[in-house]
Amino acid sequence: MPKTPDEIIRDEIRALAAYHVPDAGGMVKLDAMENPYRLPQELCRVLGEGVAGAALNRYPDSTARELKLRLRAAMQIPSAMELVLGNGSDELIQMLALAVAKPGAVMLGFDPSFVMFRMIAAFAGMRYVGVPLNADFSIDLAAVIAAVEQHQPALIFIAYPNNPTGNLFDADAIARIIARAPGMVVVDEAYHAFAGASFMPRLAEFPNLLVMRTVSKLGLAGLRLGLLAGHGAWLHHIDKVRLPYNVNVLTQRVAAEVLQHRDVLDAQAAEIRSERTRVLAELRRLAGVVSYASDANFILFRVAKADQVFSGLKQRGVLIKNLHGSHPLLADCLRVTVGTPAENAQFLSALSSTLNP
Ligand code: PMP
Repeated sequence: MPKTPDEIIRDEIRALAAYHVPDAGGMVKLDAMENPYRLPQELCRVLGEGVAGAALNRYPDSTARELKLRLRAAMQIPSAMELVLGNGSDELIQMLALAVAKPGAVMLGFDPSFVMFRMIAAFAGMRYVGVPLNADFSIDLAAVIAAVEQHQPALIFIAYPNNPTGNLFDADAIARIIARAPGMVVVDEAYHAFAGASFMPRLAEFPNLLVMRTVSKLGLAGLRLGLLAGHGAWLHHIDKVRLPYNVNVLTQRVAAEVLQHRDVLDAQAAEIRSERTRVLAELRRLAGVVSYASDANFILFRVAKADQVFSGLKQRGVLIKNLHGSHPLLADCLRVTVGTPAENAQFLSALSSTLNP
């Protein structure tokens, strides 16, 4: 007699809700921190030729040698540091967790932060300890140090800037945490292009520091490519957990080519940063909206009734992210990705008419 799924599937997996990706069909899509811009036509033509010439009958280069060289140059990775690539940085988080998940091992993060840290801890059978941020979304250093001493985490994730709050944490506080951590500390710089601060140049200072980046927010979310930079002593073990062909032929080709046109991506990021300033100024003029400064490509804001405002925006064809109910510090909070000037104007006008019907 076969057993039921309830008897076979692990308790912590049955308790999870699947990561929900809403259908954005026909809407202005400002929910997922994507770059709103496509690549220039001429570059697309070159990419098309590269894709046409790719040997799809062969497995990809397991070491992604060429792509790594391009990433090293484009992301100023210190030459003494090693690299591991992932199918998105999500996959790197999963590799890290799998590599350290001894029975009882702890992953420590901040709350609120990127939800996949907690989910992947559950996938890998790790215990997740979330240390609450202060009400202004800064690090409660005393609480973090106490939690590090108490739980001895094998892995600490620090999103820098943080998602969904958008702020950069105090760099000295992060350095103190790294110095006290018994295991690896991963500074997740997914939003680096919009931030102007990084721990990449500081890798040599801390033997247990790893810096994670992704090309997703740079305008290449569809490729699924993330990277982990750090000391070989750690990364050589993490690389054993990587499935041999995790970065496919097309991703390797296209990313290597686009990274030679870093100026295109940089110009788009600059456009997004200047739109961020404009949207924030407009939000601050709206009565009934409290908005938070952002070092990322999205803005967190608070209204009186987030559920109502979220559905009002949706009815007007604009999809953003409703964070109400996800954490007490995010009560009545919404998160909007910075889009094109036209998309941002649509969002601001929909918000204004939702708030003042
Ligand atoms: N880290 C943070 C902080 C994020 O917000 C995200 C995406 N929302 C990721 C990692 C994952 O990025 P990807 O898997 O697309 O590289």
